[in-house]
Amino acid sequence: MKRLSRRSVLHMAGAGALGAFAAPALVGCTGGPARHWSKGDPFSLGVAAGDPASDGFILWTRLAPEPQSLDPATPGGMTGGPVTVEYEIATDPALRDIVRRGTAVAEPDYAYSVHAEVNGLAPGRPYWYRFTSGGAASRTGRAMTAPAAGAALDRLRFAFVSCANYEHGYFAAYRHLTDEQPDLVLFLGDYIYEYVDMRPAVVRRHSEGIDCVTLSSYRNRYAQYRLDPDLQRLHAEIPCLMTWDDHEVQNDYAADLSPSFMPRELFLARRAAAYRAFYEHMPVRPGRSRPNGPDMRVYDRFAFGDLVEISILDGREYRSAEACYGPPPRHGGFHLETNQSCPERLDPSRTMLGMEQEAWLFDGLSRSHARWNVIGQDVLMAQFRQKRPGDTLPAFSTDDWNGYPASRDRLLRHITANRVRNVVVAGGDIHSFFVNDLKENFDDERSPVIATEFVGTSIASWGPPYDRLAAALPDNPHVHFFDSRQRGYVMVDATPARMSVRLQSVGDAANPNAPLATLRSYVVEDGRPGALPA
Ligand code: FE
Ligand code: CA
Repeated sequence: MKRLSRRSVLHMAGAGALGAFAAPALVGCTGGPARHWSKGDPFSLGVAAGDPASDGFILWTRLAPEPQSLDPATPGGMTGGPVTVEYEIATDPALRDIVRRGTAVAEPDYAYSVHAEVNGLAPGRPYWYRFTSGGAASRTGRAMTAPAAGAALDRLRFAFVSCANYEHGYFAAYRHLTDEQPDLVLFLGDYIYEYVDMRPAVVRRHSEGIDCVTLSSYRNRYAQYRLDPDLQRLHAEIPCLMTWDDHEVQNDYAADLSPSFMPRELFLARRAAAYRAFYEHMPVRPGRSRPNGPDMRVYDRFAFGDLVEISILDGREYRSAEACYGPPPRHGGFHLETNQSCPERLDPSRTMLGMEQEAWLFDGLSRSHARWNVIGQDVLMAQFRQKRPGDTLPAFSTDDWNGYPASRDRLLRHITANRVRNVVVAGGDIHSFFVNDLKENFDDERSPVIATEFVGTSIASWGPPYDRLAAALPDNPHVHFFDSRQRGYVMVDATPARMSVRLQSVGDAANPNAPLATLRSYVVEDGRPGALPA
């Protein structure tokens, strides 16, 4: 088994080209007419593939001939009942060698999105696909199957990304990532931003000048992001794994608690709308992720032969309230707390993942036979001591794992006790690169390194003040690298002997043509936790 993908230029099928297909059936599976649009390209939002298994994957599209239609009664410009969509899957990018044809339903209840579950394919290889419906054809996308469970794999290349505030910049980082043609990309949260930034420095504007609260406003936000050509091409060419952070719903929320103190019932209705719109736009498994009111499961585990197992976590839906949450003099969202100002932060019953997800994670890690155990999740895990203005005591963020140290301790102790092999944590949220040692006792230099953490900077979102965070580095000797001044992503090349990691920078996202540079390179050697400069 060699590496999964081969470099290839995808052939983009023009809208309306039907290739090998005869005119699709005009009657949908429920008996309604198959075509529910009179003008425009129903595949304007592109295609995506996700959740690779050893025999298949999820293919996504959403019919939206008028993708930014603001009328909630006609999402994407569509009306009427379910629409049948055909797909074809081939072993080559020109779609000559078609190995599967199938149909799926674009559901009105889910904004005419399609989540086609494909199985029965050969393991460990790329496939190419497209959708057709009502005389129109989508662009061609690339999907992949994972190698068979336990099969020998000698290489997996994946990138991870987070924090793509459309108003703060262009998606040049997504473009460079796609050009690198990794096997897979992990989206670790803040895929959209729900708010509108009133500051004059914004680079481009969210199309609705309002914060997303309703289903149609979240839908329109996703549609606007997906119309960006760099993001749309990334999804067409690179299969993905998805999780979320806070901005898919509201900045700094925790489970059913809004940082702006919306009444719980109202906030849960907002969360339900936000999760539903997320589902409608992502290539995720209906059986696992179809939302049920305000509840939706995104966490899951993905194996790539004997080489890599990736646990994708949900750090928002099940977490305990942020420490010292409450109306003034307590706090809503992110804030810094000392052990004196908020002893509640240290409560051992607090959890970042919820006890059910935590047990699921621990069970998966202790059963894993993979060489590398990657944990893809939303926020900074390592301890990070800061200072509040005018205070000399160490202070900690309430919004990342520093707000949930008991949960972090349980995880790191579990890794040690079960001798989980080569744990590498990937995260985002903080709009900065970090390279960290994860330790049971961050305050003891002799405490052994248990796992390695890489935090990717934002795709576009503005970073925190460099000087303020850099001033904290002497108090955090387990942080080997930090930079909040660059936008970009992280590229990982895993082999049995080592994991090579590049911090990829586009500098300033205000430049749509920003060139790519490698800011730093690291390796993690098999059996030796901790990043080494490459
Ligand atoms: Fe962010
Ligand atoms: Ca965030």
